Amino acid sequence: MANYRYIEKLSREILYSEEEQQWIDTLINSDLEPTRIWSGEVNSIGVRRKDRDSIIKKIKKELEEIQEGYCYYCGFKFNFRVGERGVKNIHREHIAPKSLYKAFTFTSKNLVLACNICNGDDYKGDLNTISSLDSDYDNCNFNIIHPYLDNKSDHLSLEEDGTLANVNGSQKGKNTREMFGLDEIFHIENRRQYIICKSYNVGSIYELNLEELLLRNRAVF
Ligand SMILES: [Zn+2]
Repeated sequence: MANYRYIEKLSREILYSEEEQQWIDTLINSDLEPTRIWSGEVNSIGVRRKDRDSIIKKIKKELEEIQEGYCYYCGFKFNFRVGERGVKNIHREHIAPKSLYKAFTFTSKNLVLACNICNGDDYKGDLNTISSLDSDYDNCNFNIIHPYLDNKSDHLSLEEDGTLANVNGSQKGKNTREMFGLDEIFHIENRRQYIICKSYNVGSIYELNLEELLLRNRAVF
């Protein structure tokens, strides 16, 4: 179904050029606050704002390609309207929050695109996701399913009725459901529609002929 995609794991990460990496190192090693190196004025440390902004633009552009326009966490298409929830805008999301882990502000594996609901203050926001820290990002332990380091299906399974279940009692699965509100009714309903559409090989629930659907599967409605 066009409005939802189950993303098992992100297939690749952003690669920075040597020049971009040099700017990033200067930003990270400076005394400036994380929010400032990400979006504020950086002239004082010898990085031109437009050079930093070109990295920020590149992050979004590349991740849009990698994620093909879908939120990694909830799986919905970024421009999909969900009832009164409104348009799902795109955020460049720091998996480990930049406010807590400045060193990982530009780390490729720490960046993912998320919708404004998943990344909003009601859900993930600035919550800590690292349970044990290491200077090498890949050696950190995370308390949620990690888009690059984990396979989603090792932790969560998508059930026929659109609900999610923790695989082998996965704590990461449980935390991910809670942190992103994945058990909310509108998420369950949209995943259920996705499963129905997939089984009938149509792009949207509105393409289904209701009569045919009732004949073929009375249990669906
Ligand atoms: Zn989302």
